[in-house]
Amino acid sequence: MPTIARRVVPFGTTIFTEINSLAQQYNAINLGQGKPDFDGPAEVVEAFRRALADGSYNQYAPGPGAPSLRQAIADFVGRFYNLDIDPARGVLVTPGATEAIFASIMGLVDPGDEVIIIEPFFDSYAPGVLMAGATPVYVPLYAPDWTFDEDELRAAFNPRTRALILNTPHNPTGRVFNRAELTLIAELAQQFDVTVISDEVYEHLVFDDYQHIPIATLPGMFEHTVTIGSAGKSFGMTGWKVGWVYGPETLVQGVGQAHQFIAFAVNHPAQQAVAHAFNTLPGSYYEDVRALYTTKRDLMMQALQAGNLKTALPQGTYFAMADFSDVFDGDSRAFAEYLIKEIGVACIPPTAFYSAEHQHLGRTQARFSFAKHDEMLHATAERLARLRA
Ligand code: PMP
Repeated sequence: MPTIARRVVPFGTTIFTEINSLAQQYNAINLGQGKPDFDGPAEVVEAFRRALADGSYNQYAPGPGAPSLRQAIADFVGRFYNLDIDPARGVLVTPGATEAIFASIMGLVDPGDEVIIIEPFFDSYAPGVLMAGATPVYVPLYAPDWTFDEDELRAAFNPRTRALILNTPHNPTGRVFNRAELTLIAELAQQFDVTVISDEVYEHLVFDDYQHIPIATLPGMFEHTVTIGSAGKSFGMTGWKVGWVYGPETLVQGVGQAHQFIAFAVNHPAQQAVAHAFNTLPGSYYEDVRALYTTKRDLMMQALQAGNLKTALPQGTYFAMADFSDVFDGDSRAFAEYLIKEIGVACIPPTAFYSAEHQHLGRTQARFSFAKHDEMLHATAERLARLRA
């Protein structure tokens, strides 16, 4: 009998698939997967419709991305972060941030290299590193503040370190890394000549006075960084799967050499619509998104408090990690099942976001997404209140 490759055997099915089907089966409020249950801007959808009907975009886009979108991304990065990017050589369009991450690893890391992953981590990072034949080296964040230990970070760097995967604002903890933390990473990256693969898909989702700082903007870091974004997050269109990478030409070229044989090109009409979003949405769009999600975050906090679940206030993203140890005796997997079946709310147990060696750090944690209608978050509070009983 033919068998599947050993490489993928340990990956199993993603936790999202499992939780989604269980949530459906029990008719639970699904705060599992990070996808909004409302639409992105109507004029951006309309731009997609126009691009389809136009007839000019129904064949392959250029492999590195539609010139209009690459230009729009370079303009955006110049406007927001004061970085000077060449749209032709310094930007690559990918089918979502997921492929951007995978192509970055495949294009910038050799077999046998070490790649530092801060954990808990977005679940595609470790499989990407493993499929590249490299070795993940994990540096944990510690609850309740979700900061790393400086000595542990330093100890992770050595001459074999080729890359570090950074994610800020951070899924699943809601942390926005501050300048001091980023400066330490930047110093070590330069000292050990390491590439930072910086996943910044939640760049616009920051709350209160927190500020998103792209690590590429720190002194000396542009040449060491590829930065990843996603229209799924920036414009609320996760189903479109349009992402991008920008950075210095040599690194982006490496990513592109992998991308050309992974995806080759990206949905052409979608790229036109995303270019339209970049070029025409006013600055107030990003402020409105922040305001919208600040309200949702606060509703989420109320719901978690109603259930006596302890959480740090998310500084960014649309996720909160909560500690359930005051109301449930068991591990995160058991809690997620109990919550779906008995309380009617679905969350994600963070087991898939930790290496085996650090699983215990997520044992009493659960991730909730608040990219949901306000009514759903109110209903969540009512249901979670039953946890106190
Ligand atoms: N990185 C992070 C941190 C994410 O949370 C997600 C989506 N949940 C992605 C990457 C993937 O983005 P995309 O849908 O554009 O592939």
